[in-house]
Amino acid sequence: TVALKDVTKVFPDGTVAVDNISLDVNDGEFMVLLGPSGCGKSTVLRMVAGLEQPSRGAILLDNELANDLPPRDRRIAMVFQDFALYPHMTVGDNIAFPLRLSGMEQEQRTERVADVANALGIGDVLGRKPSQLSGGQRQRVAMGRAIIRRPGLFLMDEPLSNLDSGLRAELRAEISALVRELGVSTIYVTHDQAEALTMADRVAIMRKGVLQDVGTPTQVYGRPATLYVAAFLGSPR
Ligand code: ATP
Ligand code: MG
Repeated sequence: TVALKDVTKVFPDGTVAVDNISLDVNDGEFMVLLGPSGCGKSTVLRMVAGLEQPSRGAILLDNELANDLPPRDRRIAMVFQDFALYPHMTVGDNIAFPLRLSGMEQEQRTERVADVANALGIGDVLGRKPSQLSGGQRQRVAMGRAIIRRPGLFLMDEPLSNLDSGLRAELRAEISALVRELGVSTIYVTHDQAEALTMADRVAIMRKGVLQDVGTPTQVYGRPATLYVAAFLGSPR
């Protein structure tokens, strides 16, 4: 589980990016963090990953205070919008890279990579270089590399925003299916309402650093907590 307790992030220039947010993500839950550009979504994710320190408040991972835990000790996998693959390595070597770092034997690595690649529908392109793939295939490789070490928590920051709408829809369904199959808790950031409502177990809606509403898609859409949420989601009135 992940818990944020009264977390605030003020940057050195005085920008209050995150304003007193409390949020729980349960085991195996797919939480979507939704809000317009600049509302603080990436800052929340970066604090959970340990890439930024909260100015105030606590971040708990599996009920332990994690504020001072370095990123590498957090068992977290993160996928960004501009997923950086190693261009000189094959797809298979890209996915296997974290396993190699951890010292796993070649034979075991090959087996694990094949499993993950097949689950992601890229089992037949393991020998290619990233430059020989489509955008959607590259995104799948980035996801494969992120989950190969079986993280306890999966963080995704607008992973589909560089793709065309058809591919977005296809990958939405795939990502949901995959993380549910893995049973990994996930925080998925997007500014796309439809994406949030179709993928989430629960949605957390932010505005200007403040958490406005948290609930299942049915709850937040049907009974929005604030006028802002109603307008943002286009709820019927
Ligand atoms: P987007 O959808 O555009 O990615 P976001 O919701 O992810 O936006 P953040 O990147 O978390 O937003 O930024 C939240 C606020 O904090 C913005 O006003 C941004 O300008 C500001 N901000 C982000 N990083 C810094 C920084 N290092 N120093 C100062 N202000 C920052
Ligand atoms: Mg962002």
